[in-house]
Amino acid sequence: MSRLALPSRCRMETLIRFRLLATHMGKEPIYDGSNFEEFKKSTLAFALWKWESRDFIKEPLQVLSYGGGTQSTAMLCLIKENKLSRPDIVIHADTGSELPETVEFLEVARKMCSDMNLPFVIVSSHRGTLHDDYMSKKTLPIIGVRSCTMNFKIQPQRRFVREIVGNRRGRVLATSWLGITTDEEGRSLVKNKDSPNHGKRQTEGDVKWMNLSYPLLDEIPLTRDEAIAINEKHNLQVGKSGCFCCPYAGSRHWLNLRENEPKLFAICIEMESLKQEEQVRKGRKGGRGLFRDRPLTQLDTYNFQEDSNCDSGAGCFL
Ligand code: SF4
Repeated sequence: MSRLALPSRCRMETLIRFRLLATHMGKEPIYDGSNFEEFKKSTLAFALWKWESRDFIKEPLQVLSYGGGTQSTAMLCLIKENKLSRPDIVIHADTGSELPETVEFLEVARKMCSDMNLPFVIVSSHRGTLHDDYMSKKTLPIIGVRSCTMNFKIQPQRRFVREIVGNRRGRVLATSWLGITTDEEGRSLVKNKDSPNHGKRQTEGDVKWMNLSYPLLDEIPLTRDEAIAINEKHNLQVGKSGCFCCPYAGSRHWLNLRENEPKLFAICIEMESLKQEEQVRKGRKGGRGLFRDRPLTQLDTYNFQEDSNCDSGAGCFL
């Protein structure tokens, strides 16, 4: 085989960056509603052009992780009011299994960012949609296992940011802004009991090159209710965000999905039955389901006292 047959991964990435740079004229892309993949490419090209000479070690890229829910939308409102500093870019990771209201609201957020001249991009996983991925493996997203968040939210965002900041081993090159309010501050703290930082704010990400910041805790502390009030002041009715098949969702979500989105509810039932079949095939018990580990087929038999106010699944604030 010729030694020149395939460029190395590194060379390939450099070639892609070069091609994107070469084809970009330095004009900020505007999404015209037609081809989103093309728009995403132009946004990356624009980002590469805009920050080509920036030293990300001295000035890490500021990335607002936009989940489409109450808190991250409040961050956009505060930026609009000049109360919160501006990020460099706003990124939403679309799992392909988002609730219809989230998908609809993204257009509002995109317009808001565009009015503020903030690049806004939606990224997604190469695995396809979250629910298809789990169905093909005949399994379910599970409480306590954050692989769905990692594969469909965190990794696609990271990949996109990495394209912009490149690779400088061991150095922080980007900061991800997470919309966590004071009432759920626990989500921002180091949970590992063996860590010397246990109970302190988690500012290091899972990767060295990207750290974390919490504008709604440390810059402008807000409760969730205050975040809702800010959104309302901007005439924004923000719905729940997160996947329709999220195992962290509470009873209100499932009742609402069954009532108002029967096709999506049917997908969830199918996800459970595929998993059930697979468990039986392997000779195991297959009782776990999507509603707090219990099967949705028994939804009516539950005591609906328990519920979740969580906006986007307990694992997802991205
Ligand atoms: S919203 Fe739920 S299912 Fe979707 S990625 Fe987050 S934790 Fe997983």
